[in-house]
Amino acid sequence: MPRQFFVGGNFKMNGVQESITNIVNNLNSAKLDSNTEVVISPPAVYLALTRSLADPKIGVAAQNVYDKPNGAFTGEISVEHLRDTKVDWAVIGHSERRVILKECDDFIARKVKAAIEGGLSVIFCVGETLEEREANKTIEVVTRQLNAAAKELSKEQWAKVVIAYEPVWAIGTGKVATTEQAQEVHAAIRKWLGEAISPQAKEDVRIIYGGSVSEKNCRELAKQPDVDGFLVGGASLKPAFVDIINARI
Ligand code: PGA
Repeated sequence: MPRQFFVGGNFKMNGVQESITNIVNNLNSAKLDSNTEVVISPPAVYLALTRSLADPKIGVAAQNVYDKPNGAFTGEISVEHLRDTKVDWAVIGHSERRVILKECDDFIARKVKAAIEGGLSVIFCVGETLEEREANKTIEVVTRQLNAAAKELSKEQWAKVVIAYEPVWAIGTGKVATTEQAQEVHAAIRKWLGEAISPQAKEDVRIIYGGSVSEKNCRELAKQPDVDGFLVGGASLKPAFVDIINARI
């Protein structure tokens, strides 16, 4: 079976009730490629609103989740909270959390495990900084981030993971990776899946690209053999998000 194209919309810390309602209504009424899986990720306080408004075919993702069950963890959100709110996905390991909130590989890997064991699917983000790319360390960094998750997950649990390759230097900068740069890293990640996880995971796990994806560059990127979709930040707040979802038609 070919891998289903996947487009995630990461609203980050943007939007209020009114604008999020508009975005969701716009998606509900748009003609979206029925072969593409769409998942949107609003700020946590609007997850319930988004879930109640969005067409059931559209998935909803939290932008973060904690690795422990409910308890004395002020300010955190548990997997149980997300399940109770009918949220099926969590974005974990986004570079803004790695860099600004200082989340390390092991913590992120524990969160991926907790999310999957609690019944969520995960958009697991990896990617190098500009400094790391310039030092030719892209594959090394991405492999390190992936290996941390591999230590925590069973081979079967990778069926619940979508890997988002997001070069940090391309996020929110308007500097998109070239199709060759994206394909090269995606191919390396697919090779890693075969070697470190299983032939099945190599075949089935979707690897999506994120970093300044727009309605202008999405079609070329979508043609790459190992690009199975996108994680879209800024453009997911705009009507052009529909064009990105429909990049393959
Ligand atoms: P961007 O963000 O599309 O605004 O570059 C992507 C992301 O951070 O997921």
